[in-house]
Amino acid sequence: MSQRPTNWAGNLTFHVEHVQRPASIEELRKLVARSSRMRVLGSGHSFNSIADTDGDLVSLSDLPGDVAVNAHTASVTVPAGVRYGELSQQLHAAGYALHNLGSLPHISVAGSCATATHGSGPTNGNLATAVSSVDIVTTDGDLVTVGADDDGFSGTVVALGALGVVVGMTLSIEPTYQVQQIVYDDLPVDALDDHLDEILSGAYSVSLFTRWQASSIDHIWVKHRTDHDEWSGGPSWFGATRAEEQRHPLPGMPPEYCTQQLGVAGPWHERLPHFRLDFTPSAGEELQSEYFVARSDALAAIRALDRIRQRFAPVLQVSEIRTIAADGIWLSPCYQRDMVGFHFTWIKDAAAVQAVLPEIEHALAEFDVVPHWGKVFTMPPEAVRSRYPRLDDFRDLARSYDPAGVFRNEFVDRYIFSD
Ligand SMILES: Cc1cc2nc3c(=O)[nH]c(=O)nc-3n(C[C@H](O)[C@H](O)[C@H](O)COP(=O)(O)OP(=O)(O)OC[C@H]3O[C@@H](n4cnc5c(N)ncnc54)[C@H](O)[C@@H]3O)c2cc1C
Repeated sequence: MSQRPTNWAGNLTFHVEHVQRPASIEELRKLVARSSRMRVLGSGHSFNSIADTDGDLVSLSDLPGDVAVNAHTASVTVPAGVRYGELSQQLHAAGYALHNLGSLPHISVAGSCATATHGSGPTNGNLATAVSSVDIVTTDGDLVTVGADDDGFSGTVVALGALGVVVGMTLSIEPTYQVQQIVYDDLPVDALDDHLDEILSGAYSVSLFTRWQASSIDHIWVKHRTDHDEWSGGPSWFGATRAEEQRHPLPGMPPEYCTQQLGVAGPWHERLPHFRLDFTPSAGEELQSEYFVARSDALAAIRALDRIRQRFAPVLQVSEIRTIAADGIWLSPCYQRDMVGFHFTWIKDAAAVQAVLPEIEHALAEFDVVPHWGKVFTMPPEAVRSRYPRLDDFRDLARSYDPAGVFRNEFVDRYIFSD
């Protein structure tokens, strides 16, 4: 008997017996037209049931398609299933770059954008903000293109897979650039009281890593663009000490799995992700959660989490704090607000993690906390829905694309459509 497919983390077994892999757009369109229930699987890196279905689960991994750079419009058109790792290499070779990347290059472009995946940086919107047009196979098998000037575009990119099968996307690009990655160890927590904003906006992309165990932040990861100002941080930055050796965010994991640090300048796609494409990212054995609050509440939220750290630290591997710029995307957690994300890499013990999540969500409730669409959370659906002022617009859009709900699943019904 064949084993049913799982997500990357292995914490979720999909309901289907196997994933269907059409080899052409025509085959995909026929598959869609005759399906009564369907979801698309990207690279399967989400930690919850967002991609699951009791109908057809389809992967675009066998679809042909090329990455096509258009220098005239400063854009690139990509097959939706391409991974950021491969796309970035081709873009850099052609002399171009994206504005940002997530912590790992292994994830697909369409799947990442569908869940508002982000990197870090006070002026960097999430990865979906680079999208200027989307090609979608809709429920009757038609192929439609929706551009930034079309009605409803703001609901189209971060759509949780609920509009149809995204087969192509066009993304904004810029000339390729170099980044230096510098890690600082042991930031005294007192520095956060007076300097949190300066630290988080001190470079193009900044991440704080902490295990919430001591009176210091374990590491600051600074990613500095060399075409911006000179990197001014010396051997010490806000009381943290510049690392003389390569680091991994997780204690005990091989540092060589991470992209080059130590201030050695290199291409954007070999510095912006924390993890290298040719190695397992993060721990492998893990679960993840992430919660967003307004950046103006960042310090108060850190204090709120610090007050309950003894409750969640025992099941935590490491936590990452980073910033994401506001956008106008209806289902983006950063809709019209600059946000800070509190990410948690947990041990792979679902019951233990489920037990601490409500405490974290409670501690952050006063800040109108929003969960990451692709990670583990326990917030009630009505609380999640209340964070999205354009929810009704998205519902109308989804119904106009898919009146029969072919592309819905239990997750989308629960967090978007139920009242
Ligand atoms: C080790 C690790 C590190 C991570 N780091 C980050 C990080 O730095 N920042 C961050 O924000 N997140 C991060 N994540 C979360 C991850 O980026 C998201 O879960 C993202 O959705 C993964 O993309 P995917 O292609 O695997 O999507 P999947 O999990 O496969 O799918 C996600 C959703 O997209 C839909 N979808 C996928 N492809 C299509 C398509 N072609 N058409 C329509 N719908 C589609 C699916 O139906 C599903 O609803 C991390 C995850 C892991 C495992």
